[in-house]
Amino acid sequence: MRYFSTRGNDQLLSFEETVLTGLAPDGGLYIPEHIPALPSDWETTWKDLSFADLAVDILSLYISPLEISRAELAALVDRSYRSFRHPEVTPLAKLDDKTYILELWHGPTFAFKDVALQLLGNLFEFFLARRNARKTSGEQPETLTVVGATSGDTGSAAIYGLRGKENVSIFILHPKGRVSPIQEAQMTTVPDANVHNLAVHGTFDDCQDIVKALFADRTFNATHRLAAINSINWARILAQTVYYFYAYFRLRPQLPPTAPLQFVVPTGNFGDVLAGYYARRMGLPLARLGVATNANDILARFWRSGAYDRLDASAAGVRETLSPAMDILVSSNFERLLWYLALDGAADNDTRAACATVNAWMRAVKTDGRVELPAAVLALARRDFVAERVSDDETLATIRAHFCAVPPYTADPHTAVGLAAARTIARENPPATVQVVLSTAHPAKFSEAVTRALHDAPGFDFARDVLPDEFRGLLEREKRVVDVPAPDIELVKRVIERFAEAQPAPADAPLASV
Ligand SMILES: *Cc1c(COP(=O)(O)O)cnc(C)c1O
Repeated sequence: MRYFSTRGNDQLLSFEETVLTGLAPDGGLYIPEHIPALPSDWETTWKDLSFADLAVDILSLYISPLEISRAELAALVDRSYRSFRHPEVTPLAKLDDKTYILELWHGPTFAFKDVALQLLGNLFEFFLARRNARKTSGEQPETLTVVGATSGDTGSAAIYGLRGKENVSIFILHPKGRVSPIQEAQMTTVPDANVHNLAVHGTFDDCQDIVKALFADRTFNATHRLAAINSINWARILAQTVYYFYAYFRLRPQLPPTAPLQFVVPTGNFGDVLAGYYARRMGLPLARLGVATNANDILARFWRSGAYDRLDASAAGVRETLSPAMDILVSSNFERLLWYLALDGAADNDTRAACATVNAWMRAVKTDGRVELPAAVLALARRDFVAERVSDDETLATIRAHFCAVPPYTADPHTAVGLAAARTIARENPPATVQVVLSTAHPAKFSEAVTRALHDAPGFDFARDVLPDEFRGLLEREKRVVDVPAPDIELVKRVIERFAEAQPAPADAPLASV
């Protein structure tokens, strides 16, 4: 299996090159040269597999055994999901006969991004170890410097994905004093020497601008081999397809054979729900996927009108909501869906034509801020997805309603956006449809919104009902953080250079192998 860019398919990359490159040089996103069909006996052979064994079978459809052998892949997967607290990795919770929750937050940082970033960190380490093992002694080892900005949530999942990894260092910039105390503590109390937190006196946008400028600085980028781990990385999408299958196998035997199964996904950059789309295109029998957005609703507007339009939002900038991990202006992974829509709308499965179409659409988005898709393309998009927008007030009301329901469930604000959208979407579903709402964060990570929704709910006690043991005492633990007194790229460069120099060159050190 090889990969090419949504904007041009002349160059084919291996899985390794795809994962290490991230964004294609032409600005496109990498996609597989074809979507593998499921093995003919998938339903019987996969139905009782553990999460890890299922992951190996699904991932190996996308990764050539010549690149990563089955035994190596099994070891990588095992290491990635052993860090999860729940034996099922992504367990289901039942709310009622028609509604289930798929809990994706049993990983080290209590957020769904762990599912993908635990694997990505191990893949980085594996590829570097293999490249370095081929070098002769005295040759410089290959290293990666991961740099990212966070407004709180994603930074910790990235740090936990890369902590302690050989030949990789990670620098995460956050706006000083503007991330929640729990999130700040999650990031800064990690003791591993390859983890560096930079508290920048400035805003999240300042942090993001600095990271972009670092990547654009060719000399600096080449010297330090900068790597990004943002949500467009193909390995992240691939890792996330597994739980759609896993949930299907847990749930299907309990349902009437004819009941359609629908996943509803709280959506920001469109990575999580896109993984469900790949699962469906591979052949997993699912109803239309539900896309749930907050007030940053470019996707909900697209499914209403057929126009992908950033203008509405950019007039006001990103809207700050109670579900901050979904506060986006454009959805970076949406381009991958656009490619498949272009393909399905083109004659004869012409992949070259699909790339040309995506190129034209993305150029329009760049120059005009919007693109209006043909009615036939919108019809294709509506065949596979349904989208709803949810306000902050509805989010709070939904948290409260589920806390007071029987059985009670405490949803974080992102999950609540999914639950609220699912209710609206259900009105148009065939009545037998069973919905699975993806739960993307533990409620303790977003204590402010949860407390705001529940402070006067009878019997609510945050410390007793919500706070996990792992968070207790976290705020008192020793922190490692570098203060950056101004949002200045030169100051950030100096921090990265200082740590790079302090790193002893591990030229002849034994390399970890997986
Ligand atoms: C990242 C994130 C999302 C959005 O996922 P996408 O793949 O960007 O659509 C939703 N909820 C939480 C808690 C997240 O961290």
